[in-house]
Amino acid sequence: MTELATPPIEQEQEVKRISHWIGGHTVEGTSGRSGPVYNPAAGRQTGAVDFASPEDVDRAVQAAKAAFPAWRATSLSKRSAILFRVRELVHDHKDDIARILTAEHGKVFSDAQGEVARGLEVIEYCCGVPELLKGGYSEQASTGIDVYSIRQPLGVVAGITPFNFPAMVPMWMWAPAISCGNTFVLKPSEKDPSASIFTAQLLREAGVPDGVFNVVHGDKVAVDAVLEHPDIAAVSFVGSTPIAKYVYETATRSHKRCQALGGAKNHMIVLPDADIDMAADAAVSAGYGSAGERCMAVSMVVAVGHAADELVDAIKERIPKVKVGDGMDASSEMGPLITGEHRDKVAGYVERAPDEGATVVVDGRGGAPDEGFFLAPSLLDNVKPGTKAYDDEIFGPVLGITRVDTYDEAVRLVNENPYGNGTAIFTRDGGVARQFQFDVQAGMVGVNVPIPVPVAYYSFGGWKNSLFGDLHIYGPEGIDFYTRGKVVTSRWPDPATSKVDLGFPQTR
Ligand code: NAD
Repeated sequence: MTELATPPIEQEQEVKRISHWIGGHTVEGTSGRSGPVYNPAAGRQTGAVDFASPEDVDRAVQAAKAAFPAWRATSLSKRSAILFRVRELVHDHKDDIARILTAEHGKVFSDAQGEVARGLEVIEYCCGVPELLKGGYSEQASTGIDVYSIRQPLGVVAGITPFNFPAMVPMWMWAPAISCGNTFVLKPSEKDPSASIFTAQLLREAGVPDGVFNVVHGDKVAVDAVLEHPDIAAVSFVGSTPIAKYVYETATRSHKRCQALGGAKNHMIVLPDADIDMAADAAVSAGYGSAGERCMAVSMVVAVGHAADELVDAIKERIPKVKVGDGMDASSEMGPLITGEHRDKVAGYVERAPDEGATVVVDGRGGAPDEGFFLAPSLLDNVKPGTKAYDDEIFGPVLGITRVDTYDEAVRLVNENPYGNGTAIFTRDGGVARQFQFDVQAGMVGVNVPIPVPVAYYSFGGWKNSLFGDLHIYGPEGIDFYTRGKVVTSRWPDPATSKVDLGFPQTR
């Protein structure tokens, strides 16, 4: 296993400075602005991350621009070989990355390992880039004329990522982007930035040339500099819906290609014929895993007909068994929230629930360790559309139950919701499940699967306010996003047959 400059962060006792990564090296920011990075389980600041000025962003873009001509000319087999080495190094260091995630995000170590594993799948898919970029060829499309299609990289592309998957979501972007021959500028979340720097070191060690992968940290100033930079051809964004919309509108106004994935309010429908124990296990796992800070978390359970009472009891029974604690404690199943501020905001939904007509079945406030940004799982019943607990993406360990009489009412709730990221149905009836897949307006659908994150060779993305743009992320649509098509029409005639012909070319 290779030695890298940055040790796992939890070994550091001091508040360490986290700087940018430009042109293959650590580069300190020039803005004089920085933000705190916490260990959420301890509630203690462990880092200070430089916030990039527009000049810092420009420096990264210039490094990426300078690296582009040689990188795009690097043969597919060489790029693929480098990607294989990236894959090996990320795999070898997967526990180091997971420790960094737990230290700065708070998710439990096993969950962090799962995050790295799902990101690795995307890197593995991209190792096959020679196959993915194969074009079409039509011999003799017209007499003596052949036509073929090729896909070429865009140039410098950028990714802006959220706090909740500090390693995996960047991998969704940089792996397809650089394997297709682009050079990349990443602006990760300022709340947990260290995984990106560790990844940058791995990429360098794997042989990714300097300037192909760059990291600038920061807030809105850095994001705006990315969105307006004339040398950036495309922007991928993952984060909350208001910022996704802003990013999409601003980037496209500057004539950039943009895919901006937003927030979610994922409904899990439980039909009366479902196995209630299995549905309760799934609701608890998908509602409280990663403290509910997943865009694919189940946040509303829609209990249909007589399923409701039994289901609420089964979920309630499971909640006290969820072990909340420090993510590095192997017995912990759920860690803290990202900041104290966010924890208090999430707790506010439980506080207000009775005034909104909901029933607090389990109150997580006070049920977790005092140190750190913990909040134990809460369960709200009779949550109705039009209330804050129903309408908002809470992004915390608060699971809501809403009760309806029929399948049709359940589907209407999902389809009328402004978000359309993921949804799931729990039933034993294959015909109804198939009808659900046909009816439902969401980008990712689970049938007895509560978190239907697509495997790497499909693409990830929601509908409605969960995605602004046309193409989903990673998989075949990710390859399309980071490339543009060119069609070549070619002939090699005998010059002796050449003549002037002003008519519009017709196939013969
Ligand atoms: P966020 O929108 O606050 O931040 C995302 C990124 O945008 C960060 O890099 C941040 O620095 C930047 N940003 C924040 N405010 C900005 C502003 N005013 N102007 C410009 N840039 C700004 O999201 P978050 O809190 O980091 O992450 C959680 C959100 O991300 C949730 O809504 C979750 O559903 C969503 N998410 C969606 C997906 C998906 O695939 N659809 C995946 C993961 C997370």
